[in-house]
Amino acid sequence: MPIRLLPEVLINQIAAGEVVERPASVVKELVENSMDAGARKIDIDVESGGLRRIRVQDDGSGLLQDELGLALTRHATSKISSLDDLESVASFGFRGEALPSIASVSRFSIASRKAQDPHGWIMHADGGRAGAMDAQAMPVGTEIDVRELFYNTPARRKFMKSDKTEFGHIQDLIGTLALANPAVTFRLTQAGKLERWYRADDMHSDSQLARNERIRAVYGAQFFAHSIPLDVELAGMRLSGRLGLPTAARAQADQQTFFVNSRAVRDKVVMHAIRQAYQDVLFHGRHPSYVLFLSLDPSRVDVNVHPAKTEVRFRDGRLIHDAIFSALHEALAETRAGTTASVPANLTQTQAGIPAPSAASYTATSQPFQQRWSLPDTTTSLNSLQSLYAPDTNQLAEPQPAYAATIQPGTHTDLGISIASEQTDERPLGFALAQLHGTFILAQNQAGLVLVDMHAAHERITLERMKHALSQADLRTQRLLVPITLTVSEREANAVEQLGDGLHGYGFELTRAGIERIRVLAVPTLLMDLDIEAITRDLLADLLSYGSTERVAQAQDDVLSSMACHAAVRANRRLSLSEMNALLRDMEATERSGQCNHGRPTWVQWNLNELNKLFARGR
Ligand code: ADP
Ligand code: MG
Repeated sequence: MPIRLLPEVLINQIAAGEVVERPASVVKELVENSMDAGARKIDIDVESGGLRRIRVQDDGSGLLQDELGLALTRHATSKISSLDDLESVASFGFRGEALPSIASVSRFSIASRKAQDPHGWIMHADGGRAGAMDAQAMPVGTEIDVRELFYNTPARRKFMKSDKTEFGHIQDLIGTLALANPAVTFRLTQAGKLERWYRADDMHSDSQLARNERIRAVYGAQFFAHSIPLDVELAGMRLSGRLGLPTAARAQADQQTFFVNSRAVRDKVVMHAIRQAYQDVLFHGRHPSYVLFLSLDPSRVDVNVHPAKTEVRFRDGRLIHDAIFSALHEALAETRAGTTASVPANLTQTQAGIPAPSAASYTATSQPFQQRWSLPDTTTSLNSLQSLYAPDTNQLAEPQPAYAATIQPGTHTDLGISIASEQTDERPLGFALAQLHGTFILAQNQAGLVLVDMHAAHERITLERMKHALSQADLRTQRLLVPITLTVSEREANAVEQLGDGLHGYGFELTRAGIERIRVLAVPTLLMDLDIEAITRDLLADLLSYGSTERVAQAQDDVLSSMACHAAVRANRRLSLSEMNALLRDMEATERSGQCNHGRPTWVQWNLNELNKLFARGR
């Protein structure tokens, strides 16, 4: 075939392949245009999941009559005019290709009216071929009608899922757009039936309030109640929003939205940083929920990476990764037992999907309980580290004088529970009353009744102590008697050479041993018994793609975690009241103690109100 210039309509149809993946992408482009035009109210009506019809009506600035035709022309935009503009672009659109692309694969019309004009104008375009222009009575703003999407590109039409699935994508999308734009009212209907209505409340001059209200409307009251606020300034950026509590994690990654300057993006670097921050407090296979807004100077992020603009490129990705990680890590460390961010008792329903505890961590008394609550006598190579972790063995048995004084001597009954006389003092987790079935601690605090899973709680406390001990120790790295030689890619071998001593921070010592070979000389002591080759390979892969890695910390945590589990107090161990109180105080003082090492809650609170309701009191 001879080389030739493609006709305009075909060019647009090719571009549509990238911009218009499915009905939801049409809705995204149209609604973003409305927001760029300053709309306060946007109505979206669809039929058959958007495949039959999508209508978007806004009260924005509108277009002039002679702009209508231009809007359907490729590379025609009112939003940028120079490369400088592109580098600091604040509008959603800027490529000037959405309308021509959409028009080229549908039966299309655009009607618009400016405030100064007595009436509007409507223009039709069928499969991208512009038709007649007529005057039309209409309110100020723009209405775009897209019918029979992909009618002239049957191959693409075949890729569409059921109407229901396509509509689901549209619903999710409207939710996401609504989150980023709390001052705009969104109304979504399907064939006239109201499906979503996010109202902007003019009363909320406070943008923070408005945003919270919007988050509640989109993600639900349940998410809101089980999340903590975040608002930090870091490295010249601001990161704000809400973080779902680890104990409210979900089976699906379906509540994760990250905005970069109001644009929802799925970014590899960002997602890695978030995963890493949650890693410590989440059960494997569970997904955190979050809504986060990152604002930074537009020149620090390139938004022109993807036609649908769902990806971005950060100029200083490494810095942003680390800043996000530390902000979240710090916020999540505060999920200690007894804080306001705790898990209310009625959360149990939402946790239905949490995997059952592994048999290993809960088989009671199969091994004799260790003297006090010290570490088990492990026979692995970890023995050398034992001294490091020796927890304060006296602490749990002998309560600190400060609260020992307030504890009344308990009385033991024949039923195997110990009952304390009433305590009154202000401690978040209150004071122990009794032990239930050798598993739970019952405690009374100001609000009412606290129930603690003693194994889960002690396990977390032990883990946090071990981590602390490890971070203080010099014993982190151990040299291998026989170095291991690995064949890797040249790129990886280069990385090893460049990183050099930089790997010591991870407890590794690697050298280059050839063009595609490296040698492992030393590894973190805790990982000696694991598959060193696999960990080293993962380490390099992470360092190459993210510039940092969580593997080593994760593998060490796993080892510590299982040590902590064995060291933690077993079920059916009778605890004295002072031991129980000591555990409560430790929980209050320990980071992340609101959930055990597997992400399950360690305690629940029943308020007096809830208890009264149980007995229908006060009616
Ligand atoms: P882009 O948004 O990248 O500029 P589009 O093809 O989406 O490109 O839109 C082309 C132009 O049409 C926009 O730059 C804008 O001037 C105009 N336009 C599109 N939709 C609207 C609307 N709802 N209200 C006002 N102007 C609009
Ligand atoms: Mg646009």
